[in-house]
Amino acid sequence: MTNEMRALVKAAPTTGLQMQTRPVPEIGADDVLIRVNKTGICGTDIHIWQWDDWAARTVPVPLVTGHEFAGEIVEIGRNVEGLSLGQRCSGEGHLIGRTSRQSRAGKFHLDPETRGIGVNEQGAFAEYLRLPAFNVVPLPDSIDDEIGAILDPLGNAVHTALSFDLLGEDVLITGAGPIGIMAAAVARHAGARNVVITDVNPDRLRLAGQVADVRPVNVVEEDLRDVVAELGMKQGFDVGLEMSGNQAALDQMVEHLVMGGRIALLGIPPGKSPVDWSRIVFKAITIKGVYGREIFETWYKMIAMLENGLDVRRVITHRFTASDYEAGFAAMLSGKSGKVVLDWT
Ligand code: ZN
Repeated sequence: MTNEMRALVKAAPTTGLQMQTRPVPEIGADDVLIRVNKTGICGTDIHIWQWDDWAARTVPVPLVTGHEFAGEIVEIGRNVEGLSLGQRCSGEGHLIGRTSRQSRAGKFHLDPETRGIGVNEQGAFAEYLRLPAFNVVPLPDSIDDEIGAILDPLGNAVHTALSFDLLGEDVLITGAGPIGIMAAAVARHAGARNVVITDVNPDRLRLAGQVADVRPVNVVEEDLRDVVAELGMKQGFDVGLEMSGNQAALDQMVEHLVMGGRIALLGIPPGKSPVDWSRIVFKAITIKGVYGREIFETWYKMIAMLENGLDVRRVITHRFTASDYEAGFAAMLSGKSGKVVLDWT
C-alpha cells in the first residue's frame, strides 16, 4: 500500500476546498484504517466550504473534511477484535469520550465531549480514513456503498422520526431537504397514517414526492389548514418533525398540532429566534431536541428497516467522481439537489 492519498482539505481559512496529496493516517491500537469508496456531501460540509461564522469558530485548518462514508477495512489495530480485513463498513462519525456521566451510563450520543470527524478531527473525504474500531458499523451485503455513504444523514432522519411512536399518527415534517425527505420515508415505514412535508422550494417538494409516499405542501401556495381538512384530520397533526430551522415553519407546526402534540427538532435556526412559548404551554406540547444518532441503536434500527423494505435511494440525485468534487459542491449549493455522492475508487 502506498503511504500517500488524495484528500479534500480545508487548506486555508477561506471559501472552498482543495484536493491535496496527504499522508495516509497512521492507526492506533484501537483503530482501523478504512479504504473509503463513497462519501456523501452534507449541509455541514457546505458550511465548511462557505467558511461561515460557525465554520471559522469550529474547524481547525488544515483539515480533511467529510463525515458521511462507506468503504472497507484494510488495516486493523492490535487491540481490535471482531472485525476483519475486507469487511465492508460505514461508521459513526461522532468520536465520544468514555469519562462523562452520560457515556458511563451508556448514553453515548449524549456525551458532551463528542468530537466529529471532518469537523474537529481528520475526516472521510479521502482515500483512507482512520476510525476507532468502536465506531465501525459493518454493512450487510444488501446495503451497497452508495447507501452506506448516506447512513449518517439517514440516521439523523431515523433518530428524529423514531423519537415518538408514529403508528397510526398524522405527521407533519417541515423542511424537505434530504433529511426531511428521508424522515418522511421512515415515518411511512413506521406506520404513520398521514405524512405531510412542507417547504417553499418546488424542486425539493417534487423530490419528496418521488422518494416517499407523502403529501408535499408548498406553504407559499397552499394553506396547511386546507390540507388538514382535505386529509380528514379532526384537529391537526399528532407529531411534528422540524427539519428546516426556519422560524415560520416552527410557528406553523405549533399552530397545526393537536393538543398534547409532540415535536422533535433537528433543524438548526441561524441564531436566537422568537418562539411563542405561551402557545406551546397552552397546547401542552412536548418538544425534544435531536442531535446526531443514538449510538448504536439508530444504526441498528436503520439497517433493519433498509433490510425490510425502507427505500431511500432516490434521494441521491447526483453522483460524481471525487476529482469532480467542485461539480458536487455546485449541485449542493444550487439548492436543487438531493444527496450528492462522491466516488473515491
Ligand atoms: Zn452529515
